[in-house]
Amino acid sequence: MSIRSFAADLLPAKLHSTLARAPAAAESQQAEVATFAELSEKLAYLSKSDLKKVREAYKFADQAHLGQLRASGIPYITHPLAVTGLVADWKLDATALMAALMHDTIEDCGVTKPELIELFGAPTADLVDGLTKLDKLQFSTREDGQAESFRKMLLAMSRDVRVILIKLCDRLHNMRTMDAMAPAKRSRIARETIEIFAPIAHRLGLNQMYRELQDLSFRFMYPWRYAAIGKALERARGTRRDIVDRMRRDVEKSFAEARTKVTVYSREKTVFSIYRKMREKHAGFAQVNDIFGFRIVVNSLPECYLSLGTLHQMYKPVPGRFKDYIAIPKANGYQSLHTTLVNPLGTAVEFQVRTEEMHAVAEAGIAAHWMYKAGAQSGRPDEAQRLGAMWLQSLIDIQSDTHDSSEFLEHIKIDLFPEAVYVFTPKSKILALPRGATPIDFAYAIHSDVGDHCVAAKVNGEPVALRTELKSGDVVEVSTSPNARPNPSWLNSVRTGRARSKIRHFLKNLEHEESIILGEKLLTQALRNEGMAVPADDEEHAALWQSLTRWSGSRSRAELMVDIGLGRKIASIVAKRLSQLLGERGTRPGAIALTMGRFADNEAQVGQNVVEIDGSEGASVQLATCCRPIPGDEVAGYFGGEGLTVHTKDCSIGRRLRERDGERWMEVDWAEQLTRQFESAVSVLVQNTKGALAQVAQAISAAEADITHIDMGDERAAETTELKLLVSVRDRLHLADVLRTLKRASAVLRAGRIKP
Ligand code: MN
Repeated sequence: MSIRSFAADLLPAKLHSTLARAPAAAESQQAEVATFAELSEKLAYLSKSDLKKVREAYKFADQAHLGQLRASGIPYITHPLAVTGLVADWKLDATALMAALMHDTIEDCGVTKPELIELFGAPTADLVDGLTKLDKLQFSTREDGQAESFRKMLLAMSRDVRVILIKLCDRLHNMRTMDAMAPAKRSRIARETIEIFAPIAHRLGLNQMYRELQDLSFRFMYPWRYAAIGKALERARGTRRDIVDRMRRDVEKSFAEARTKVTVYSREKTVFSIYRKMREKHAGFAQVNDIFGFRIVVNSLPECYLSLGTLHQMYKPVPGRFKDYIAIPKANGYQSLHTTLVNPLGTAVEFQVRTEEMHAVAEAGIAAHWMYKAGAQSGRPDEAQRLGAMWLQSLIDIQSDTHDSSEFLEHIKIDLFPEAVYVFTPKSKILALPRGATPIDFAYAIHSDVGDHCVAAKVNGEPVALRTELKSGDVVEVSTSPNARPNPSWLNSVRTGRARSKIRHFLKNLEHEESIILGEKLLTQALRNEGMAVPADDEEHAALWQSLTRWSGSRSRAELMVDIGLGRKIASIVAKRLSQLLGERGTRPGAIALTMGRFADNEAQVGQNVVEIDGSEGASVQLATCCRPIPGDEVAGYFGGEGLTVHTKDCSIGRRLRERDGERWMEVDWAEQLTRQFESAVSVLVQNTKGALAQVAQAISAAEADITHIDMGDERAAETTELKLLVSVRDRLHLADVLRTLKRASAVLRAGRIKP
């Protein structure tokens, strides 16, 4: 039978009376609190001083809401009281209870946070403030995947897990009392509840809350389906009562005989979960057979498995229905053994077996932490911590098992160690950013073009600096300008890797483009000295450029220009080669170009043909290690693949290179102002006596030079030793001074510069 025809069959005439009845979300729903006296009955676990504080908070809330009514017409204060009653069922602390009592005061009564801090202290005020912020969020978008982000944002915004617990109680009470609301509003709230809040309750392991929120949502979203299934459930309850009662007695008797102390609870599926099962299995109500079931709560873990044995001896288990959620807990920390048994009359019933602790965690999840903390006063210290830890641990244990659980862990992490912020775009899309992220990160998260061109930002409608830190819930808007470009200083104020790499990329490109332009300028200038113009980068000259780049060892024309622009290759050398290549094609130097070149030369007062070296060149200019030129030496440069290598003019190795490859040589000279000292290779012949090395070191230091390297001969037996040193000096004169001082030392026989 399809749901539709089934519903038509059973549709009650008096739909509304069915709806108005207390929710069928069955199980042990405690009486709702409506007065402070009723609330007090649940607060026995508080100390006297805490109880006093809670009473103060109640008085304050009562005053604040004075004259306000609920949609149903009863005084508003009944709502915070009922919410606090639910919070008290979890035995949350006084701070949470106070916050629950006052949760609507900032929003609805014009009370301010500073006022609450003054009266009740910062921790309570922070909770109320957190709740108020959650209230302002409205889940409205119908976009897929947004519900998940919204849930994460809720979790992130309620830094303190107590905020989310109170919020869930608030939502539950609103759902329970929604009959009084306008139908349109009802279905929006119901949808929000089933998509956002019920899953949060589920993830926090608050199963009882989860089931009731789902069931209530379903009731308001699909009142007819709900009524139909509810009616069927009621009938089934009637016909099965006898069987269920008998089974329960049998089970209790068996356990008594086995001398195992257990508590047997009967349980009933919610309307919503019956509905879901019917839909999943495309089945009718009659085919959903685990509507009624039992929970066996035992004292210890081994008893769980022992009890399973007892049960399987009593009734026949249904093959394939046994599940060990103790060994492999569910993603939200749930642990139990599940088995389905068939009694002699053929009725299949599901049994869940668990310890008391597992039961607490299964029903109240994270809230079990507080429930046991309250128990701690009655001689069970550490139990609270142990349970809280157990709940978290069970999550960690299964981290690797399912994708879902690691995702959930992420949420818990957000909760316990908030490290992400969730912000909105102006179109209500949610973006997750790392903590400390700024509007620049936001802009790059939207699109790299938006990031590259962003100029200004607004947060919640207010203009802010681009480096402003964003907070969860902020609505962020950035404006762009086509001419804007990333600023290198942005690198200091971004948190996302994406923004960082995009900014770097842009700056590198920029540097690249600028280098090309500079390189072309330098080459044009240098080529003018040869009386020629730079040929166009076109097809006609493609072969020419190709042979030039092959000669220079560049991968492309652009790379050659970048190298010239960055000073890695010398413009005049490239120009010489280029003019040579042009000459081979028959291009002759033009008089005008030549004149222009000389004119430019004079104007700029630089000899384009001479490269000056001052020591600051870095990797593009190297001093040859064969001759180790120092200022004052006559030098020349060899333009190889790795830039310019400078040799002394009398260096034999340099001379050989010059003979072989003359076109790569260029004039090099020392600059007037030098930026550093230069290393010179020195050979010192010393007597092999004690203290000879010390004398050498002393002499060099006396001449105000430094030894940067010593190579000592290994002829210890000999009478003399040759020391090879690297000494850093200012110039030739300084070196001469060093050598003179060395020669004066008694142990030194000879000292001189090493030449290749
Ligand atoms: Mn409320």
